[in-house]
Amino acid sequence: MPRLLNLIYPRRCPVCDDIAGGKRLICEPCRLRLHPVSEPLCKKCGKPLSTGEAEYCPDCRRRKHLYTRGRAAFEYGSVMKESISRFKYKNRREYGDFYVREMLKSCEAAVRSWNIDLIVPIPLHKSRRRKRGFNQAELIAQKLGKELGIPVSPNALFRVRKTKPQKELNDQERKSNLKDAFRTGKQDLEFKKILLIDDIYTTGSTIDAAASVLLDHGAEKVYFLSISIGRGY
Ligand SMILES: [Zn+2]
Ligand SMILES: [Zn+2]
Repeated sequence: MPRLLNLIYPRRCPVCDDIAGGKRLICEPCRLRLHPVSEPLCKKCGKPLSTGEAEYCPDCRRRKHLYTRGRAAFEYGSVMKESISRFKYKNRREYGDFYVREMLKSCEAAVRSWNIDLIVPIPLHKSRRRKRGFNQAELIAQKLGKELGIPVSPNALFRVRKTKPQKELNDQERKSNLKDAFRTGKQDLEFKKILLIDDIYTTGSTIDAAASVLLDHGAEKVYFLSISIGRGY
């Protein structure tokens, strides 16, 4: 953020929401309250596994996903839940800088190894976007694209139906809620390796629904990267 803007709107800490001070993206004591995702991880969705468990989390053992692989930076616990909710609903866009820095720190090597051609944020329905003023996934995607030097396409996917928040639904309802929720834009997706960006990964039904549309339109492989991920289900 330019210095002048920093004086008028001082950057806030993504954990306690106090002014972080100077150029810091987070206050030091707050860093300890976060739970970065750490090995061992599920080989499919990147969820942290308890040691001794198999290669895949219980969720990925149970269902077949349409995406190839995915990763996230933080476990979705109470701290992350509040942080992401302020990011989305209280317009704390500056948190995005912290999230992206941490996503790169833990996942850049994985993302590089996937040879991504295009980064695509999970879209919001346009009425929801208008109400919120921005799409949090798009903001993250743009910053990541800039850092990684990979093109970002916010219009490759759009949401044609307003869906209920996934967190209010059970497994089966999540799937039917998302059926036909996404459409592709005019863009050429043929043979492309696409990285989807979202804020929270839980069961993967949103990523799978988006991946299904992209794959139907010729995408070669679909991966995802999210700020946070729930522990097994
Ligand atoms: Zn803090
Ligand atoms: Zn998994």
